[in-house]
Amino acid sequence: MSELIHTCGKCRHDFVHGATVCQGCHRDIFYGASRVEIENGSKVGAVLLATVAGFVVFWLPSLLNDHMGAHLKIGYGLGLYSILPVCFVGLIGYLWGGSKARNDGAGKIRTF
Ligand SMILES: [Zn+2]
Repeated sequence: MSELIHTCGKCRHDFVHGATVCQGCHRDIFYGASRVEIENGSKVGAVLLATVAGFVVFWLPSLLNDHMGAHLKIGYGLGLYSILPVCFVGLIGYLWGGSKARNDGAGKIRTF
């Protein structure tokens, strides 16, 4: 039975696929995206999409009123509930960002 062998990017020591610590330099081996990379991707996605949604809900109506003669209320008349679509889009951004980080790290084997 042949085992899949990888080479450490830090010390060039060979290790078997599935090993979690390099026997050459004793650094942790990560397969795919690390937990921190996924968390950061999720946060960036949430902030990015929530910001876009915030502009659409709170800023776009006044822009359309000023330049297009529209008569829209800020938050489209939803009052305090107008924060809900922003949160929902932020949640989608959180999931999207985490998924993107996982996909970006897929197939990578790195030593930290
Ligand atoms: Zn190593």
